[in-house]
Amino acid sequence: MRDIIQLLPDAVANQIAAGEVVQRPASVVKELLENSVDAGATEIQLIVNNAGKTQIQVIDNGAGMTETDARMAFERHATSKIRKAEDLFKITSMGFRGEALASIAAVAQVHCKTKRDGDELGSELKIEGSKVTAQSYCQTPTGTIISVKNLFFNIPARRNFLKSDQVEFKHLIDEFERVAMANSRVAFSLLHNQNSVFNLPSGNLRQRIAGILGKKYNERLVPVQEQTSIVNLTGFVLKPEFARKTRGEQFFFVNNRYIRNNYLHYAINDAFQGLLSPDQHPGYVLFMEIDPAHIDVNIHPTKTEIKFDDEKSIFAIIRSSVKHALGQYNVVPTLDFERENAISVPPLKRGETVKMPGITVDPNFNPFASSTTPTAKGGGGLGYQKPAQSAQNTNWEALFKSETENVGAQLDLSQMHHDKHTAESGTLLQLQGGYMVRGTANGLMLLHKNRAHQRVLYEQFQRQFENQTGVSQQLLFPQQLNLPSGDLALLADFADDLRQMGFDIEFFGQQQLVVQGIPLALKESESLQALEEIIEDIKHDSRQFSLNKWHQMALIMARYGAIKPSRTLSAPEMEQLLADLFSCKMPQYCPAGKPTMVTLGANELENFFN
Ligand code: ADP
Ligand code: MG
Repeated sequence: MRDIIQLLPDAVANQIAAGEVVQRPASVVKELLENSVDAGATEIQLIVNNAGKTQIQVIDNGAGMTETDARMAFERHATSKIRKAEDLFKITSMGFRGEALASIAAVAQVHCKTKRDGDELGSELKIEGSKVTAQSYCQTPTGTIISVKNLFFNIPARRNFLKSDQVEFKHLIDEFERVAMANSRVAFSLLHNQNSVFNLPSGNLRQRIAGILGKKYNERLVPVQEQTSIVNLTGFVLKPEFARKTRGEQFFFVNNRYIRNNYLHYAINDAFQGLLSPDQHPGYVLFMEIDPAHIDVNIHPTKTEIKFDDEKSIFAIIRSSVKHALGQYNVVPTLDFERENAISVPPLKRGETVKMPGITVDPNFNPFASSTTPTAKGGGGLGYQKPAQSAQNTNWEALFKSETENVGAQLDLSQMHHDKHTAESGTLLQLQGGYMVRGTANGLMLLHKNRAHQRVLYEQFQRQFENQTGVSQQLLFPQQLNLPSGDLALLADFADDLRQMGFDIEFFGQQQLVVQGIPLALKESESLQALEEIIEDIKHDSRQFSLNKWHQMALIMARYGAIKPSRTLSAPEMEQLLADLFSCKMPQYCPAGKPTMVTLGANELENFFN
């Protein structure tokens, strides 16, 4: 008898394997986005047409690949992420089977351009149905651009199996959201049929959740945090009153990888017991960190399912930490203060009229005016100049009103200023972690030192810029920065703006920037770091920068110049900070829009003891 067994041609084997990895456009999106994250990208753009059926493109600014690696990446079992089978148990990056790109290239028309930082030329590669049809050098920015066209062009049966654009797009968004949720420090955008669907700047988890699920979610989140010897749990659950009847707000990540696990979902459900009606689902975005040796993530080809060695303990830990978090939230709603994170407090509603408080306050009042001299050169002061008179005729009363309305406290500002010599309520105390607290007429006020100082500096820089009164202190040893000539040319356009902010800079030759003086309010190291960040901003998008230049510069400078939360202030310094804060136009927000203070009224205080 003749032998009948034959090895499948590679292309066919790849197509079959592809079936496991690539089920629909969403699977391609997931693999490409995860690769970009793995490549260290800080910015990832996803561009799709027709729900990804005709085109999926991912542009990242990650590490890029060499010419050979670019070619290798599309081979099956080609991966830079594991070398030995044991590595499978240690791996923490996203994909790790070395199959994704090969599978995608087996069932679509792929075009890849990639370049590493420092390489002069990038490589370009075209592959269709596993066949390389073109390979050459190209000009391309650092990072990788992969474009996947006409998915399943060579497997009509699979192509016909795809659902409507609507359904496929829903799957695609799900994958996009999961990767974006797990990597809040990475900026993501999604463009579908030329419409912007998401534009998520780099931020913290709270901001990312608000970016994905909606701004309102910022106020609906209850932080969860638990560290144990087997697992660390962090993230948020949704306050029970906002639970939905449909599922979709459940995100569970293990070692930063999205997973589905009914068992753990039950653990969270259990913790919400008594708080939800049976047809409601708890919402959560939880991250679990666990030693990869104790999990097996490879049991499912698309890797969303997972097995734990010790499921029972993990169940118990999750349930109790979520319960604990919910309990805390019920007890101390307004002291949920650890929000590095709070994005914004609602501003005045449109058209809302504001009633002036009944007391006239002298905003220039400063009980320590005589005892504090602003010092710039590292004396004992806070290192900022006192706000100019002109800035003090401000609309803070209105804002203050809205702030007190927000927190339901009747705070009397005049009381705060004038009481301090006599009444107990006026004493400022410093708390651990960068806060100050002061009693008010009928409650208390908590202040965030660093943010308050940022606000003060920010408005000071703004005034300097507007009045062209930026003041520099000369450096003993001028600092020299070497920059690529292109950067320097860009920067030259903003030289006068920088000088206005107090940077005394000169350009030498094609590549040298010499800093001779720095803003009065900043220390040398802070100034130089701020300057570098400003330069980065200009490089990143000079047009955007120029639209808003003083704001951009002041924001950065205030961030570097503001007192660190760990720094202990003297009593006069605290008073000075408070006085300066309340002479600001917008005392209750830091320049990034986060609250500088929280007030608790008598009612709220009473509630704690009920
Ligand atoms: P895996 O991610 O499992 O290693 P893939 O087929 O997804 O397998 O990718 C193969 C290899 O190609 C990766 O290990 C990585 O070295 C490289 N690669 C893929 N995408 C990118 C990217 N966007 N930037 C840089 N390198 C990439
Ligand atoms: Mg991968």
